[in-house]
Amino acid sequence: MTFFRKQNSIIIGGIVLILAVTLFASVNQYIRIDSVYPINDIRAEINDMRYEIEQGSYPPSDYAYLVFDLSGKVLYADDAWKISTGDTVVVEEMLQQDKSFLRAYEGYLKTSFVLRGKDNACNGFAVYLIPEKVINKQKYTEDLLRCFLPVGGGILLSCIVLIIYSSFINRRILSPLRQIGISAQAIIKGDYNIEVQRVYDEELKKNEVGELTYSFELMRDELKAKQLSEQSLRKAQQELMSCISHDLRTPISTIKAYTEGIRDGVIVEGMNQQDYTRIILEKTNVLEKMITDLLEYSNTQLNKMEINRTEIYFRDYALEIARELRIYVTQYGVKFFCEIMDENLIVKIDPKRITEVLYNLVENSLKYMDKENGQMTLSARIADGVASLHINDNGMGICAEDIPYVFDRFYRAEKSRSSDIPGSGLGLSICKYIVDQHGGEIYCKSQKNNGSEFWFTLS
Ligand code: ADP
Repeated sequence: MTFFRKQNSIIIGGIVLILAVTLFASVNQYIRIDSVYPINDIRAEINDMRYEIEQGSYPPSDYAYLVFDLSGKVLYADDAWKISTGDTVVVEEMLQQDKSFLRAYEGYLKTSFVLRGKDNACNGFAVYLIPEKVINKQKYTEDLLRCFLPVGGGILLSCIVLIIYSSFINRRILSPLRQIGISAQAIIKGDYNIEVQRVYDEELKKNEVGELTYSFELMRDELKAKQLSEQSLRKAQQELMSCISHDLRTPISTIKAYTEGIRDGVIVEGMNQQDYTRIILEKTNVLEKMITDLLEYSNTQLNKMEINRTEIYFRDYALEIARELRIYVTQYGVKFFCEIMDENLIVKIDPKRITEVLYNLVENSLKYMDKENGQMTLSARIADGVASLHINDNGMGICAEDIPYVFDRFYRAEKSRSSDIPGSGLGLSICKYIVDQHGGEIYCKSQKNNGSEFWFTLS
């Protein structure tokens, strides 16, 4: 979680910084506020009355005041003053905050300002009584406000940052994790369709949860694909079971009927015992091929197929196999051609297994062609240092939509499924397995009713 660890450190660091700075500002305020005497503010407030008082009118005020001239003669006194208009006061005393004042006016402080006449010369004073609790109250509220304002602002800012960050965390971490949880629960129940919001944005992919969602989705896709392929495999296996039972039963029934015919001496007109034994042999071959395919397939599944590769000359091998195949193919009345390149190359193969692949391809060609007009070509080629073997036929061909699947296990193209041609749908998948084990590739090129070409490379 390096991305989020970094983010967390930045956010926590930022918040600590904000709080530290604002706390410092608050403490600073506190120190400064303590030294500011709030009576100054009250003085500024009552100063507005100065002009009127100088003009000789005495407006009402929140604070009781006393006006006297330079001789100490009281010109105006509010009731709170224990002095009346016309009394005489000692100017110096009135302007001082001495003990006798504090005794006489307990709970009050005084503040005064100079009154000036037309020539701007001092001609008297106004002295205000300010209740101490007003000062204290004002001082307290102000202090509180001034002190709390920076740190309060800091706390507010931190909260905003935290809210924004938690919504970010929710969007980037919690919500995807919640979705992953829901999807995982569904997967446990076998439902692979609950999507987690995919992360395409490169920025998102950079953080670990983005990466996790991305990988989770890959995993879900993979599991879903596996589930689908397992379903189709299961279906194919079920189909295979019914096909195999049918395909095994047909030659067995024929063999049984013909053997009984020979035993009972009942032979259909136009046929003799030799025809019967030929048919029995043919059907036995079909059975043998099917059983071999099944056995080979189970070997590929268990990875038990033995492949012993040795270095041999490709041209020598091709010439030898061509000779063998010619004998095999022509016995069915099918024309056999071969094109073998002149150059030679050493290939590392298991000749027994490669021969098996070729026989599989050749048998398919024989199976899916009209033997009377059948033609087959074996080509051995070397291109760019890569050897390849090709089997061409002029058989029934394969529909374009079937071609991508012919190498899948148990797959039988539509035509062969519907016709009565026996088969397990395993031959080509076994060929592919053997070629894969040799590090080569196997291909198919075909057109419906226009023959097929199967070829594979050897490295
Ligand atoms: P099968 O036992 O059915 O022949 P394979 O795996 O050998 O199984 O072949 C798979 C399918 O590919 C066959 O069922 C058939 O439809 C098609 N196929 C293979 N080779 C040929 C070919 N030479 N001509 C036409 N169709 C072919």
